[in-house]
Amino acid sequence: MIARVTLEIALRKEFDYLVPPELEAGIEVGTRVKVPFGPRHVTGVVTALVDSSPHTNLRLVVGLVGVKGALTPRVLALARWIGEYYCCPVELALKSVMPEAVRREEAKWRERLHVTVLPPPTDPPRLTARQQEVWNVIEEWRELPLQELLKLAETTLETVRKLEDKGLVAIAQRVDERDPYGREQIIATQSLAMNPEQATALAAIKASLEVLPERDDADSSDQSESAPSPFLLHGVTGSGKTEVYLQAIDYALGRGWGAIVLVPEISLTPQTVERFKARFSSGPHATLVAVLHSHLSAGERHDEWHKIRQGRARIVVGARSAIFAPVAKLGLIVVDEEHEHSYKQEETPRYHARDVAVVRGRREGLVVLLGSATPSMESYYNARRGKYRLLEMPSRVTEQRLPLVRVVDLRLENRKSRGAQPGIFSEPLREAILQRLERAEQTILFLNRRGYSTSLQCPLCGYVAGCPNCSVSLTYHRSRQQLLCHICGHHEAVPTACPVPECKNPAIRYSGLGTERVEETLGRLFPKARVARMDRDTLKKKEDYRRILTEFRLGRIDILVGTQMIAKGLHFPNVTLVGVLYADLSLHVPDFRAGERTFQLLTQVSGRAGRGDVEGEVFVQSFTPFHPAIQFARRHDFLGFYDQEIEFRQQLQYPPWSRIALLTLKGRNEEKVKLSADHLRKELGKRLDGWRDLVIAGPAPAPLLRAETYYRYQIMLRTRSMARLSGVLSRVQTEVTLADDVQLSIDIDPVNLV
Ligand code: ADP
Ligand code: ZN
Repeated sequence: MIARVTLEIALRKEFDYLVPPELEAGIEVGTRVKVPFGPRHVTGVVTALVDSSPHTNLRLVVGLVGVKGALTPRVLALARWIGEYYCCPVELALKSVMPEAVRREEAKWRERLHVTVLPPPTDPPRLTARQQEVWNVIEEWRELPLQELLKLAETTLETVRKLEDKGLVAIAQRVDERDPYGREQIIATQSLAMNPEQATALAAIKASLEVLPERDDADSSDQSESAPSPFLLHGVTGSGKTEVYLQAIDYALGRGWGAIVLVPEISLTPQTVERFKARFSSGPHATLVAVLHSHLSAGERHDEWHKIRQGRARIVVGARSAIFAPVAKLGLIVVDEEHEHSYKQEETPRYHARDVAVVRGRREGLVVLLGSATPSMESYYNARRGKYRLLEMPSRVTEQRLPLVRVVDLRLENRKSRGAQPGIFSEPLREAILQRLERAEQTILFLNRRGYSTSLQCPLCGYVAGCPNCSVSLTYHRSRQQLLCHICGHHEAVPTACPVPECKNPAIRYSGLGTERVEETLGRLFPKARVARMDRDTLKKKEDYRRILTEFRLGRIDILVGTQMIAKGLHFPNVTLVGVLYADLSLHVPDFRAGERTFQLLTQVSGRAGRGDVEGEVFVQSFTPFHPAIQFARRHDFLGFYDQEIEFRQQLQYPPWSRIALLTLKGRNEEKVKLSADHLRKELGKRLDGWRDLVIAGPAPAPLLRAETYYRYQIMLRTRSMARLSGVLSRVQTEVTLADDVQLSIDIDPVNLV
């Protein structure tokens, strides 16, 4: 038997090794192996088992790494597809597919000494008072880790050993599963009676699950003939999409299928996870729900992953990388908030988890359900032209109406203030906050920029404090008393005067607005209000997020100020007011999706208001109040927005009318980067000569010309046949030589053009 192996250290090549007879039984496609490479031993993954090799003098596989079947043939096939489509070596794709915590050789279950109660001896032994106390604790727990017992009973190992000698307990090594949500109290819930809109959507999904053909997990061949086409569930915020997911999963489980639920990292809150755990903690289809996201410890991730692999967890809820979870008999993939950009990985492999979900669904013949209140242009376009099946839920579950959205024209407000320092809060918003404080209702204020002020500027000479490594200005952080770069993290002390030698003006000024300044201003305007801020600066520890949200839920906070962290998925019935302080922020981004992003953001943030009995109200402050993204969001009019936006995209042949490949070259020497970009452009021209459906733009400086000391130039290609273009680009990447210190990265279907 010969194993074809990709090595983690040597990219884009496969090597053949002989499998010694004693390892044959344990080896299969996807097994991780240790093999000799030059003088060393390295790890790799078996991609095929063959009978003969074109090479001679094959060396032997040295050993197997980790558990058998760590990588299923299907997931391996998916990794190959990712390598091809996203122009990256399959070895790197494999790294994303299998978490580091599982890949590492030393990864394993945690074993600890546990103390267990034994059947009572016929002759009860005599115990000292101290021993009796300890025994009482153990008896109550029946079994617990030794270390915890020692703490709990304030005792020593010696005392516990005495109890063991007397035949009362056993002390032994046991696997001790780490459960990241172990301390959470889960209260079981049951399916709710659905309203007609939910029932219609669910019926369609059930019908699709009903006809899923039986399939063999060991077989990785494509099943595209039988592909049910994906569903797009367009339901306004609060329309009960999650309930539809829950009942769809329940139905899938009943038919023997497992499920993956993707949620954007940011909305993977304990609240979300609890909803899934609670529903499947009991009942006929009870199962463990595994959770995968980036804030787990390596040990927790290892355990969660293996609970899935062993088939004990039939449901996985997770962020981006959970799309690769090795769920046995996978039948359903749900992608919640499918429009979210965080589904795109911003490092190699630059895959988009929603798109991978659709591809995985098509290849394996699964039901895929994409859900959103503000679907992406791409997905809605696919629904319009029949590629996806559209399910609509246009009303909220209960009597609650969508909140009333008022747009405040900041130009008028500033004129009213007659040149005095323009306020952060317009008069109407200030009034509204005051009202909420009087009625003991809660307010959320949203500003997508942290820090105190955006820039430090000298009014005399015009000097702006900029980052020495990036082409951006530094943000002033007041509590840290620092100027900070939000790109590279560079920080420096705040100057007391303009640093330009000829100027030295002491009256240097801060301009622009960040959440820190909002919080401070609130303190002045509403001294009695309890205000909390939630952004990257205030969330230092893993628990901070949970703690602030809990306090908010318990009504110990009146006003919550935050960045996009608070825009998504939170459900607080007592929030009746939402203020968007500066809606223009996301419009001023050099990206053709700026309008779409703004529309989505405003809709999502507004969705936080009025989720209880009292109707919600939203204030959107803006300098461009008549921008379509703002006006359509005000009217909760997704279709209106879509129709005008799709036309604009068509005129410019931007996605969804085409697909984009963004090539970025970066290096420390700007001239070299430019020359390399020109050279690359020529090489592309040669290879792509005669392609009808292709637009090449650039090279041009990236919108963010310099980041982390690197200069960056871009070439953008647009085509409808991306799979074909990917093939060409992969070859270009290996064949074209660039200057030594210039690096090329290829981003297929980028969501971030900066
Ligand atoms: P979405 O995900 O669309 O924003 P949710 O699923 O969070 O909406 O539902 C909003 C609220 O309505 C939740 O508290 C949920 O428990 C409740 N809900 C959902 N469906 C029903 C139903 N059929 N009957 C009663 N309450 C429901
Ligand atoms: Zn910087």
